[in-house]
Amino acid sequence: MEQVYEALLRRAEEAVAEAHRQHRRAAELMAFVAELRESTPAGIVVCAWCGNVASGGRWIDPAPLLAPRLRQRLEEQATHGICPSCLNRVSAEVAAERADNRP
Ligand SMILES: [Zn+2]
Repeated sequence: MEQVYEALLRRAEEAVAEAHRQHRRAAELMAFVAELRESTPAGIVVCAWCGNVASGGRWIDPAPLLAPRLRQRLEEQATHGICPSCLNRVSAEVAAERADNRP
């Protein structure tokens, strides 16, 4: 019975964690939709590093929302920029590279 209890507890905790992740994702999408409604097609920006999409400064992964053909058109036609997480990563990489190249 101990094993069943442990498995039940673990699975229930995982299900709760997944529900929290989906709730956060839904909140992000709702905020993105609100930004998108305020924007125009020209206001959409694609991160040139990771492919995430911004509208009004809010970035999301468009992969689950768009079929590959539409994602490709987005890549071809949208203005490109860099999202905050890629900017942080690239800045850290550049700083590390500079530190390595110091005599
Ligand atoms: Zn990015």
